[in-house]
Amino acid sequence: MTSPPQVKLKPGDTIGILGGGQLGRMLAMAAARLGLRCRVFSPDPDSPAFDVVLNATCAEYADVEALELFASDVDVITYEFENVPAASAMILASRRPVLPDRNILETTQDRLAEKDFVRRLGIGTADYADVSSVEALRAAIAKIGLPAVIKTRRFGYDGKGQAIIREGDDPDRIWEELGTKSAILEAFIPFEREISVIAARSADGQVECFDVTENEHRDHILKTSHVPAAISDALAAQACSIAGKIADALHYVGVLAVELFVVSGAGEPKILVNEIAPRVHNSGHWTLDGASISQFEQHIRAIAGWPLGKPIRHGHVTMTNLIGDEISSYEKWLTVPGATVHLYGKGPPRPGRKMGHITQIAVDPPKIA
Ligand code: AMP
Repeated sequence: MTSPPQVKLKPGDTIGILGGGQLGRMLAMAAARLGLRCRVFSPDPDSPAFDVVLNATCAEYADVEALELFASDVDVITYEFENVPAASAMILASRRPVLPDRNILETTQDRLAEKDFVRRLGIGTADYADVSSVEALRAAIAKIGLPAVIKTRRFGYDGKGQAIIREGDDPDRIWEELGTKSAILEAFIPFEREISVIAARSADGQVECFDVTENEHRDHILKTSHVPAAISDALAAQACSIAGKIADALHYVGVLAVELFVVSGAGEPKILVNEIAPRVHNSGHWTLDGASISQFEQHIRAIAGWPLGKPIRHGHVTMTNLIGDEISSYEKWLTVPGATVHLYGKGPPRPGRKMGHITQIAVDPPKIA
């Protein structure tokens, strides 16, 4: 990886954000608090991030002219989603600094490249194999065993593009249903819990991690995060050190999330990396109310070339996503003492769509019965 471009913004400068979802919206709100402007680029006219910025570009990511005009109006460019097309990132990077560096996307857009990269750093992952045909899938099953998880190498999120393969399943059918020529097979990990580390790295190599978060998924979508995770201090330190090692190796500038499995066995539990997200992450939303600095502000500080904050957590924090129709409960949440309500201003609540989230802080640690 090459060294990142040096950026030093001043209040009043403009950050370009690729992607107009809730992450872009919350990044722009954090930037505004620091006196920085944002311009959002998104092909979707209903982008929730458009509502909080004065200037927006509504165009396709392949629209070269729109990308060039966008770049000329901003001082640095960042993104809120990892599937930024490589060609768009290249056009933008030839005109303005893009942070995190666009080359990082090549690693994190491809599950195989990402796992190879993590393993090269000496960090544990589930066993995996490259699968590009049904014959390769049979060979991978023979090597890795069942149950296993097949995942498309690209464009998977919230459990999309993946399936569990169990004893007795038909590999031909699974391969056909996956509908890709490029996948990986992973050993199924009977994890004790899922955790994530939200880490920020500055251009000069300072790394700051938020306290380790414990995550519960429902239908493959994050439902609840609890902080701190119910793991030992030693394991939490190990998780943060893994995130720091990954961020250093990528010469990363900005916030990244590392999702990990905690696996128990004989002796101390082990941790394995599941996935890296080169962006602010849903499991870091608790930081908006639960810490002195949010993940969004850390990201803005990092890409602006400003000092990172040292985040201090305010208590035991729970973040609950409002998914699909759950958005209709917002009025109830507004009356819950101590709850903070975040609504993303999205259109219709389709099933699985993240519509908002709630943060709750308990000042005293929960009592053990
Ligand atoms: P991913 O898209 O890779 O983040 O996977 C989504 C969710 O599927 C994870 O958060 C886990 O709950 C589950 N999952 C993914 N990979 C595995 C695995 N190898 N073993 C067990 N569960 C998995």
